[in-house]
Amino acid sequence: EIEIRGLHKSFGDNEVLRGIDLEVARGEVVCVIGPSGSGKSTLLRCVNLLEEPSAGQVFVGGTEVTDLDVDIDAVRRRIGMVFQQFNLFPHVNVTENLTLPQRRVLRRNKSRAAAVARENLERVGLSDKADAYPAQLSGGQQQRVAIARALSMGPEVMLFDEPTSALDPELVGEVLAVMRLLAAEGMTMMVVTHEMSFAREVADRVVFMDGGVIVEQGPAAQVVGAPQHERTRNFLTRIL
Ligand code: ATP
Ligand code: MG
Repeated sequence: EIEIRGLHKSFGDNEVLRGIDLEVARGEVVCVIGPSGSGKSTLLRCVNLLEEPSAGQVFVGGTEVTDLDVDIDAVRRRIGMVFQQFNLFPHVNVTENLTLPQRRVLRRNKSRAAAVARENLERVGLSDKADAYPAQLSGGQQQRVAIARALSMGPEVMLFDEPTSALDPELVGEVLAVMRLLAAEGMTMMVVTHEMSFAREVADRVVFMDGGVIVEQGPAAQVVGAPQHERTRNFLTRIL
């Protein structure tokens, strides 16, 4: 579903991605771990072209998104992204947070957009918050709204960049539970996370990045449970 070939990204003379090759199959959940500055966010951002790769190719659902002739908006519609900061629209309520992008970007009519919003609020367990404003919600609820908003666009793949890192510890579980549900539904997901229990339980594959390259990858039991590389072991002992 996602195929990344020879991906390089530099900011000025800082080469942040130094040749990434990675495939994520349909329905697969890949967790990306690694130290701060290793290029995890840049990798995700290159997949949906929030950053323009310096070299290499990215394919999503068979379409080369790095093709200069590609319709970038059409590509982004197929890729949902959830960030550490929830980025909800603060001045409109939860329902409008979900319906506005559908109406603007997908040109859905009001009743269709509202129906899709209801469906996705139910999916994340927030049907009772449809009329609330973001500021009235906990961080965990706001992040679940952000996930529901992304889902309302009907993405083929979902990218998560440390979706629980800004949350109080007691709110992490409710967000991970929603992500588990999506994984169980067969969503294709790339998840940058430090939640090793999530990686162990949900990820089909764990990718460890350091210094802009993939140092090792494999099933969680292998990469997290029995890392082969010194750099992976060092990282894991620091975060576990
Ligand atoms: P963290 O765990 O802290 O989120 P990360 O693995 O996500 O780290 P990136 O955010 O991808 O790392 O950053 C990798 C490197 O790229 C860092 O050195 C960062 O300073 C640099 N970088 C990222 N975005 C930009 C940008 N827009 N302009 C210049 N440099 C950038
Ligand atoms: Mg990051």
